[in-house]
Amino acid sequence: MASPTAPILPPATIGILGGGQLGRMLGLAARELGYRIIVLDPDPACPAAAVADRVEVGGYEDVAGALRLAADCAVMTYELEHVSAVVVEALEAVRPVRPGLTALRVTQDRLAERAFLEANDVPLVPWRAVHTVDDLRVAAAELGFPIRLKAATGGYDGRSQFRIADNTAMIGAIARLNAHHGQSLLAEHEVAFVAELSVIVARGEDGTIAPYPVGRNRHDEGILVESAAPAPVDASVAVAATALATRLAAAVELVGVMTIELFLMPDGTLVVNELAPRVHNSGHWTIEAAITSQFEQHIRAICGLPLGRATLRAAAATVNLLGTGPRRPALLEGLDAALAIDDVHLHVYDKHEVFERRKMGHVTATGPTVDLALGRALAAHALLRWSEEGRG
Ligand code: AMP
Repeated sequence: MASPTAPILPPATIGILGGGQLGRMLGLAARELGYRIIVLDPDPACPAAAVADRVEVGGYEDVAGALRLAADCAVMTYELEHVSAVVVEALEAVRPVRPGLTALRVTQDRLAERAFLEANDVPLVPWRAVHTVDDLRVAAAELGFPIRLKAATGGYDGRSQFRIADNTAMIGAIARLNAHHGQSLLAEHEVAFVAELSVIVARGEDGTIAPYPVGRNRHDEGILVESAAPAPVDASVAVAATALATRLAAAVELVGVMTIELFLMPDGTLVVNELAPRVHNSGHWTIEAAITSQFEQHIRAICGLPLGRATLRAAAATVNLLGTGPRRPALLEGLDAALAIDDVHLHVYDKHEVFERRKMGHVTATGPTVDLALGRALAAHALLRWSEEGRG
């Protein structure tokens, strides 16, 4: 265990790389504890701008912008693992960045992640690295259809990923591969899992580990639509998932919160799909349902404060509120009816424009059982819609 350094106390300033909804919710939690916030984001009107003392306008590759931010911060963190490692390396020379470079390097490149997980004896879906058309043909022959072809870097919410069902679809895949200009890709066999699970785990600077109860997730074309906890799985599955998450948190030298996404296979075994060394969409229910939310926990961890308990107050479910229709100003309707349902909470990220499948907010409901909580969240979600005209 690392020897702890002095905690970073409020009103110190925390720098967040990325000002999307995760940065916004991190900022809200940090504000409650009395910290100040500066955000680096290309958009001055990003969702986190409303809770930040300052937005440093710059891209996630912008070393100069990140260093300007760091000059005013006691500690830095990130809301997405696609920030450039070069930026984080430059920042680490002047300020602590948590989670640090090990966690970032392992998780921002799917091929590096696979290599790391294999070295740690973590079960994975059969996969192959793909750099050329020949690699893809060999991978298809060895893995068998259907195949998921994923970009090694930069993909999220199902972007930079597509399915190859059969030999006919291979033709299109090869054309797309050529268009990738030699970018590294990962080919994976598409597995028939029985459920998708995730474990959010926090690790403090002193090595203390606090895993949250396992959640069950549902995706639609790669984008998370629903999370519920505790996952209705056998106790042995929950124990195995938690043990895996705990082991991986230590292995990446985590300080902060990390999410481990898993597939539960028909024989009861687990395979890891992905790691994210940050707060995660599949843990939004922790705001209302856990003793300590993932956002507060992350802030506590990166500031060297004691972790809070990660246990549940109630069962909970989150349903994502995605955009629909063409790009237009965002105006949400149906709140009065949705909020009339018991134990429903609405989070709106204040993105100025809505468009098809954009993550605009979420609904969390609690309840005595997961099914009841999910029923409430889905009922509230069904009453919400984006105005055709948009706001004036
Ligand atoms: P990813 O971008 O790798 O997190 O994938 C997004 C979603 O696509 C996952 O949460 C799954 O629903 C689905 N998916 C990804 N890889 C596979 C696979 N090998 N087999 C089946 N479904 C997958």
